[in-house]
Amino acid sequence: MKQQLRDRFGRIHTNLRISVTDVCNFRCIYCMPEDMAFMPDAALMKFDEILHLTRIFAGLGVNKVRITGGEPLVRAGVPQLIAQLKQINGVKDISLTTNGIGLITQAQALYDAGLRRINVSLDTLNEEKFEQMTRRKVLSRVIAGLKAAHQCGFDPIKVNAVAMRGFTDDEIVELATFARDNGYQLRFIEFMPLDADDIWGRNMFIPGKEIIEKINAVYPLEPVTLNGDAARDAKSDTAKRYRFADNGTEVGVIPSVSEPFCENCNRVRLTADGKFRTCLFSLTETDLLTPLRNGASDEAIAQLIRDAVAQKAAGHKINAADFIKPERNMSRIGG
Ligand code: SAM
Ligand code: SF4
Repeated sequence: MKQQLRDRFGRIHTNLRISVTDVCNFRCIYCMPEDMAFMPDAALMKFDEILHLTRIFAGLGVNKVRITGGEPLVRAGVPQLIAQLKQINGVKDISLTTNGIGLITQAQALYDAGLRRINVSLDTLNEEKFEQMTRRKVLSRVIAGLKAAHQCGFDPIKVNAVAMRGFTDDEIVELATFARDNGYQLRFIEFMPLDADDIWGRNMFIPGKEIIEKINAVYPLEPVTLNGDAARDAKSDTAKRYRFADNGTEVGVIPSVSEPFCENCNRVRLTADGKFRTCLFSLTETDLLTPLRNGASDEAIAQLIRDAVAQKAAGHKINAADFIKPERNMSRIGG
């Protein structure tokens, strides 16, 4: 029988996020400080190690892989890595999350490598706010990167916007207009307590419901339904999905804080230094890279993975009194 990564709550894990680097050319305030310290190169998984571990995961039923970081496109050779990941038996779907700036030069190579789905992070269309948010003055290059990806034929192109109170409120409709006019699928992500600077607070995120209401007041939305449930398409989808009633383009929210989706979570993660995490908010992780480098067998590594999944917590505790923030911030986990 084909192996599955089933945990004690019956959740089957088929979705792996691989961080290829913790380095980034931005310094988003909700993610990392300006003086971020990065991992030494020797600590990072080499591409052949990523491929080796992915083969083991695929043998355990993983069929979806997302490449992330840090900023994945600052690492040389990502298109080649993607082409090789696509060859792995069992990997049916591959996608990439990027801050978009590298797409101006790399969109075509990524497309030629067989990548079709990308998520580009873009929180604002206002230059000053962009600089405030990312600490970089490069908004026009991100927009040019999005256009380059569009011209190559990427489909879908999703735009991720972290929604922060006092920052995003007055731009929700503008971002929605930008996305629908360009055919990008916009996803607002609730700001989560994964920032390195500890700026997160309960008053800092905008609930997804409020975002949808604001958009719906200007552009009527209809839910993308599954069994009449608005509107996570598959049980494991993190996004609540809607479409503009007049043009069909999708828009959604990822309400990780206000409406957690832990119950149906099918995701696991591999950090750039080869640590396996069963949740963004895990307080423990399992080192897979050291055993791999020490010559452990594939079966021994598979057992480490199975054991970790067996211990996966029921859910994150952002809304509980005993919530403890993980030591790693988002860029060191791989969002
Ligand atoms: N550098 C790439 C990028 O920004 O798209 C990929 C890595 S980034 C860590 C992945 C996603 O996590 C981005 O969409 C980013 O906006 C999101 N993110 C980072 N910190 C976050 C936080 N504290 N809460 C919610 N989303 C966050
Ligand atoms: Fe870099 Fe992405 Fe973190 Fe922004 S969110 S600092 S682009 S890793």
